[in-house]
Amino acid sequence: MQPISSLVAKLRRDFAQLTFVEADVSRWSAKTQTVYFAPHSPHAEWVLLHELGHACLQHADYRRDVELLAMERDAWEYATKTLTPKYNITIEPDFIEDHLDTYRDWLHAKSTCPRCTLTGVETSKQAYRCLGCQHVWNTNKGTQTRVRRYSRSSA
Ligand SMILES: [Zn+2]
Ligand SMILES: [Zn+2]
Repeated sequence: MQPISSLVAKLRRDFAQLTFVEADVSRWSAKTQTVYFAPHSPHAEWVLLHELGHACLQHADYRRDVELLAMERDAWEYATKTLTPKYNITIEPDFIEDHLDTYRDWLHAKSTCPRCTLTGVETSKQAYRCLGCQHVWNTNKGTQTRVRRYSRSSA
């Protein structure tokens, strides 16, 4: 495994239009065109290529929860098909599946009705309605934080 600093140096050269910044949490910011990478996290270079996948696909910072899972999958696909051959890196498929599973769990947690535990549909950004009891709730934004559900209707 190559040290992440040498990969970052190559990426800074090859993607001069983007900014690469060391941070505690890896993420992509479309607004500032910045790839944040966490050099000390497990498999930091895989995650970095994943975030760069978001950047190359010009994913917006945040859309609806259901779109987020598709964006995650697309970013991994771009990383494995286009970026890894270029930098001679192999990403284990299990790592990708585990990563996607955390998103699936996160989506499930958000879309579960806090009243009757049936699954709800996302009616607008961070707003859900239960298909069973019509209960309406909001969820918090972001994937790095614990899921919270706020009930809106008492009916
Ligand atoms: Zn991602
Ligand atoms: Zn319900």
